[in-house]
Amino acid sequence: MSIIQARIDRVNKLKNTIKNHPATMRSAKRSTERECKWRDNEPMKIRAYKIRLYPNAEQEQSLSQYFGAARFVWNVGLEMMSRAWSEREDRLTYVDVSKQFTALKRTPEFDWLKAISSDVIIQKLRDLDRAYSNFFAKRAKYPRFRNRHRKQSIRFQFDRRNTGKVAGWVKGEIVLPKLGVVKWRDGSDLPKTMPKMITVSRDPDGRYFASFAVEYEPARLAGTKALGIDVGIASLATCSNGTRIENPRHLDELDARLRFHQRRLSFCQKGSKRYEKRRKRVAKLHAKIRDSRQDSLQKATTRIIRESQAGVIAVENLNIKGMGKNHRLARSIHDASMSEFLRILEYKADWAGIEWVKVDRWYPSSKTCSGCGHKVDEMDLSVREWTCPKCGTSHNRDLNAAINIAREGVRILAGSQDSGQSPESAWIPGTGPGQFDRLGKGTEARIVLIGEFQLVKRFALRECE
Ligand SMILES: [Zn+2]
Repeated sequence: MSIIQARIDRVNKLKNTIKNHPATMRSAKRSTERECKWRDNEPMKIRAYKIRLYPNAEQEQSLSQYFGAARFVWNVGLEMMSRAWSEREDRLTYVDVSKQFTALKRTPEFDWLKAISSDVIIQKLRDLDRAYSNFFAKRAKYPRFRNRHRKQSIRFQFDRRNTGKVAGWVKGEIVLPKLGVVKWRDGSDLPKTMPKMITVSRDPDGRYFASFAVEYEPARLAGTKALGIDVGIASLATCSNGTRIENPRHLDELDARLRFHQRRLSFCQKGSKRYEKRRKRVAKLHAKIRDSRQDSLQKATTRIIRESQAGVIAVENLNIKGMGKNHRLARSIHDASMSEFLRILEYKADWAGIEWVKVDRWYPSSKTCSGCGHKVDEMDLSVREWTCPKCGTSHNRDLNAAINIAREGVRILAGSQDSGQSPESAWIPGTGPGQFDRLGKGTEARIVLIGEFQLVKRFALRECE
């Protein structure tokens, strides 16, 4: 007992020393300041764009020159770094390597590097530097050499001082250094803010894309309802309001075709002309699967956000790491769809200002009756419809689970608001057994209450300035 007490005392003493240390106090102050500011002027969000580009023949040629140069810079830089490390354990940085490149440019042999926009070289060296540090920080594998068969990418700095680019952007044009105006897919508008950086890439399929990110003010689409979502195998997702997102059906067919072509590829001599042809075919199919999946997921998630009037979205915390290890391709595609679906939905909820809650995956969402709260002991995965033995309500398995997830999400939120109430009593009376009608009035009231609580919290933070 006394040992434990001594230990507690020691820890407390240590805590106090740290707390009262001038450095800690300074940083604590800074962090509250930042917090206040962050709360006060609603945070800006980052939104990423990826737009298809259609360069003309001349631009395509220049771009392929740029890609070649970028590959050269990456590979030579990596070589320099690797050699310095293996020979004398010297870790080169961006500055070291870029110095060597400046020297290299002066030699007549590498004169051609001068024709490349220096932006491209600088950005590529920065990328390499980051990849290298990520490896040393154990965040990533050792950087690989690049070849011309994989995805190619280069980055351009978008400088506000360059009036041509700015004027072009205002007109809805993408102007790239030394390339001029590049045609892009119409249909959506460019964001008003000009990005600071644009990445131009070419996939193995020969398609060009521009990707960039800009800050923007989030639109307030959030409503007041709680929406629970059950992701599963029978349908991709079932929402507690009855919306159902089916699995993309055409994937099975594409999957079969992909397997056929992959098999054909495996019979070819690597590096032969035929191999190259078939490799392209496989890459094309991969791209098609990826695109059609992405397309349907984008549409489905937008629909959910627009139509649900949700203020809170609750989902199950899936064991994503355990998934995807499945050998059957169709299965692994499905798993990837599920996590991709949740990823997209999460950032769209964030844009709309909708709260996002994860429910523990051990929470018995399927086995609990959403009508009376009765929990059955066993439920086989094959059971799609069931009737509660206690209250006699008949349930669709997924819908019932989604309703429970919504409920659990609200409970978690209510409990985390530090309202002094236990999570159970945070429920509004009237939602007890028999009175619970899907997501009844009680749920909405609770959310409104949480909303008010947030207002109170925000108010308090503003006062601390
Ligand atoms: Zn029941």
